[in-house]
Amino acid sequence: MGNSYEIYALRYATMSPRTPQMNYLMPDPHDTAAADLDYFVWLIRGGGRDILVDTGFNAAEAKLRNRVLTLNPVDALAAFGVAADSIGDIVVTHLHYDHAGNLDRFPNARFHLQEREMSFATGRCMCFGALRHPFSVEHVTLMVRHVYGERVSFHSGDGEVAPGVTLHRVGGHSDGLQVVRVETARGPVVLASDAAHYYGNLHRRSPFPIVYNIGDMCLGWETVERLAGHPDRVIPGHDPVVADIYPRASDKVDAFALHLKPSRSFAK
Ligand SMILES: [Zn+2]
Ligand SMILES: [Zn+2]
Repeated sequence: MGNSYEIYALRYATMSPRTPQMNYLMPDPHDTAAADLDYFVWLIRGGGRDILVDTGFNAAEAKLRNRVLTLNPVDALAAFGVAADSIGDIVVTHLHYDHAGNLDRFPNARFHLQEREMSFATGRCMCFGALRHPFSVEHVTLMVRHVYGERVSFHSGDGEVAPGVTLHRVGGHSDGLQVVRVETARGPVVLASDAAHYYGNLHRRSPFPIVYNIGDMCLGWETVERLAGHPDRVIPGHDPVVADIYPRASDKVDAFALHLKPSRSFAK
């Protein structure tokens, strides 16, 4: 038995209502309703350390984009008993606004990022509104500042944050998107982030409409499934079903224990 971590999904916002066209590039024409979009950050806990995966957005960004922020992820963490200044490692799966805000709120953190994501978010693709739209220049600028402050660990392809917590670039949705594989008592759990917004994107092999490279997105589904080794160990990035099927882990904040068995199985 190797390393064993606990993982908590902390939900900090929800976007509702949605249309099928917002969740699937090519929705089933019979679909009339669509699932809400939940926003999460993830806390990995074990070996005496807390590792945060993604940092969410803040009130200013929510206002800019007309989103409803239930509470800042930093406050969600505090309600869960974790002070922002106690976090030593933060994995940023990609630099989209809903994953890479609040970068100024973690004074002692080192940020783990794919080299390609930094290049993508600061390169010529950002001259196009269609590709730039999910990014915030304020967030990207803060990450550049962290690079200059020697607080960024760059990964190229596969990487490791701690024994049993590994990073894997899949690209697709954003060129440097990475997923996180975490050893738990129920086997390796993969935080897919936006490699699969919904279980439906993965199971129906149906891309989410915000995409840089569809080929890489499709191959990313295979990577995520291979890394997890079981369909019940893949955690989509924005699916409200996650909150329905995983045990609640707090009465103060929407936190769900992903290292425990879900109440619903996707095994065939
Ligand atoms: Zn994204
Ligand atoms: Zn996202």
